[in-house]
Amino acid sequence: MSKELVFGHQKPDTDAITAAMAFSYFQNQLGYETEAVALGEPNDETKFALKKFGLEAPRVIKTAANEVDKVMLVDHNEPQQSVADIDKLTVTHLVDHHRIAGFDTAQPLWATVRPYGCVSTIITELFQQKHIDIPANLAGMMLSAIISDTLLLKSPTTTDHDREAVKYLAKVAGVEDYEKYGIEMLKAGTNLDAKSDADIVDGDAKTFELGGTKVRIGQVNTVDLDDVFACQADLEKEMHSLMDANGYDLFLLIATNILNSDSDLLVVGEPTAKVEEAFGKKLGDNNRMNLPGVVSRKKQVVPPLTDAFEG
Ligand code: MN
Ligand code: MN
Repeated sequence: MSKELVFGHQKPDTDAITAAMAFSYFQNQLGYETEAVALGEPNDETKFALKKFGLEAPRVIKTAANEVDKVMLVDHNEPQQSVADIDKLTVTHLVDHHRIAGFDTAQPLWATVRPYGCVSTIITELFQQKHIDIPANLAGMMLSAIISDTLLLKSPTTTDHDREAVKYLAKVAGVEDYEKYGIEMLKAGTNLDAKSDADIVDGDAKTFELGGTKVRIGQVNTVDLDDVFACQADLEKEMHSLMDANGYDLFLLIATNILNSDSDLLVVGEPTAKVEEAFGKKLGDNNRMNLPGVVSRKKQVVPPLTDAFEG
């Protein structure tokens, strides 16, 4: 059996990195030979968690077919979010919690896709079903991933499975107060001083094809929305140049206040009317729209946009 690589999406978040590490460990316990890799460097939040639990970031790859024939995907399935040469590879396993879109395989595969708040929650249950122990430091990372994806269990994507997994993993990892740790970790990811304009608008961005329109949607967490928009003109300039370079029609930046679960949406490009239709609100003169209670791109931003563009 030849080695397989396990990885999450481009612009990896804490779940993309951690789910690859956890699923690779799990598969190796089952007798596969796998290596967790990443499609980018860890962000500040992930670095904070890796340091806290004494683990190294996975190796970063640009292409995979030069190393292996087979891969395992976690935390994504859409080809444009995957490794550049995904079309040359056989996907043997998929563990995800996103919509399935544009994902075709030539061969049958192992796939576990559940509408949970985090892939690391799904993987926690896979470990439990097979009665395989999760090492304490890995459990700490998986706890961090769930806190990250669910914004400390406050996102509407949160399920009872995530709540149970957080309790279980905190115990295994020896984290006494996961809420206190969670706030520290989320705050570590909001240090804007350490981020370039490109990091802020595109660091966590994903591309969606909505009714023929190429929409780029970025998200940045903060503890103060004014911090993000202090340099709004620079952010818009960066968004325009990324649109020109990559052919996006529309660029949305969701700035999310992790303390009160409010977001401001900054909109650049066209058609803005579809965005207004999606959220039932007018854009302000500042190209922004306040979206109280909106924290989840996947559950609260992409679906209404999809309805507006394709409905
Ligand atoms: Mn992710
Ligand atoms: Mn995820």
